[in-house]
Order: sequence, then structure tokens, then C-alpha cells
Amino acid sequence: MPPTKALVLFSGGQDSTVCLAWALERFDAVETIGFDYGQRHRLELTQRTEIRPLLAAMKPAWHGRLGADHLLPLPTLGAISETSLTRDVAFDVAQSGLPNTFVPGRNLLFFTYAAAVAWRRGILTLVGGMCETDFSGYPDCRNDTLQTLAKALSQGMDRRFAIETPLMWRTKAETWELAETLGGSALVRLIIEDTVTCYQGQRGQRHAWGYGCGTCPSCDLRIKGWNEWKADPGKFHKAKSSKS
Ligand code: ZN
Repeated sequence: MPPTKALVLFSGGQDSTVCLAWALERFDAVETIGFDYGQRHRLELTQRTEIRPLLAAMKPAWHGRLGADHLLPLPTLGAISETSLTRDVAFDVAQSGLPNTFVPGRNLLFFTYAAAVAWRRGILTLVGGMCETDFSGYPDCRNDTLQTLAKALSQGMDRRFAIETPLMWRTKAETWELAETLGGSALVRLIIEDTVTCYQGQRGQRHAWGYGCGTCPSCDLRIKGWNEWKADPGKFHKAKSSKS
């Protein structure tokens, strides 16, 4: 059997960190890819280089499996998000609860670049932390979108690509639970201490659930998920057997 390989879209946030752990548990070789599009909070980019070695040190098997990191500059994406900050767009964005740097179809671009890198590296599985359970505001996070894209990439690059999204049907509470299942309390602690999901990119105060402003939609989801998980962890242990 040839070794199984995966390329994980890794931003340094909670979801992609859990996805990276998930991939390290399942694949023989795991590489990561990130995108520098001039995001306002550079913290995200520094955290991803902090988190990789910490994850690798968590289990000997993970250490052997974690391979190269690819950081791609995508200044065009930054330019598009700047020019989209018109009044009308800003209004729509506020209505839907999306951050005002939202770029339509961003994940389509990310996966297309990821597939191009994967093609060169002989990798057929792309992994991303998209989820439609808690937050369906982003149409490019939807399962239908991503599975359709996997077909287009497979045809367009003449390789049978698969897009895996282990968090797609999990709530944020179940994502915390998955972290504990994969890496125990050490992984939960790493997520609290080192991952950034806050739209404001704040590290500031340390809360039980980690760092962040505590009020943006992203912090809000993280807090709700944490509270739900902490309130009744037994519920998730029971539900776990029905999911892979
Ligand atoms: Zn926040």
C-alpha cells in the first residue's frame, strides 16, 4: 500500500488546528498550507508556525507524519477585500454577521491553490475546517459547494482529489470534544492557549475558552461551544460513537 497523504488548510485557528490533529491521526504523511493575503491580524500567521511543532510533539506518530508547510502569498485576495468595502457591501455584511473583509468564494480560491500544490506533491486528499452546522453565512463553507469543487478540481487537474471536512456536521461543542478525543487535555490546552479565532485578532485577556475580544461573532461561537461542551461533556461522549 502506498502511504496515504493529506494537505491541510491550516490557518492557526481552532477549527483548522483540530483538522490538522484529525489528519495526523489518519494519514501517513500530512502537509499544511496557509495563505498570506494581508490579513489584518498577523497574529494568525505567527500562531500557525507556533502550533505546528507543538502538535508534532504531542504524539510520536504525529511527529513522524507532519511534513512541509506551504505559505502562499495571495495579495490579490487582500486587494479584492479592500475594494469590496463599499457602503452597500458593508451594509449587507453587517446584516449577515460576516466580517467586513469577507471575500465571496474565498474557500474556492484556497482549495484551488491547495490542489495545485497537492498535485505537485502527489497528494490527493485536501482537508479543511469548514462547517455548516453552527454558521451557514458563508456559502463557500457548504458541503455541496466543496464536494462540487472537488469534482471540478479532479476533472481540471486529471487527478482524483477528495476534499475532507471533518467538522462539517459538528457543532462547536463537538469540535472541542473531537479535540479531546484526538489529543486529550493537552490538545484542548493547546487550542485554548495558542489558537486565534477572533475577528479582531485580539490576544488580550485569557478566558477559560482562550484568547479573544469575547464579543465578535467568531468569539461568540467559540464561547457558546465551550460552554455547551463544559456544561455536559457526557452527552458528547455518548454521541461520539455515531460519528467517525
Ligand atoms: Zn473576537
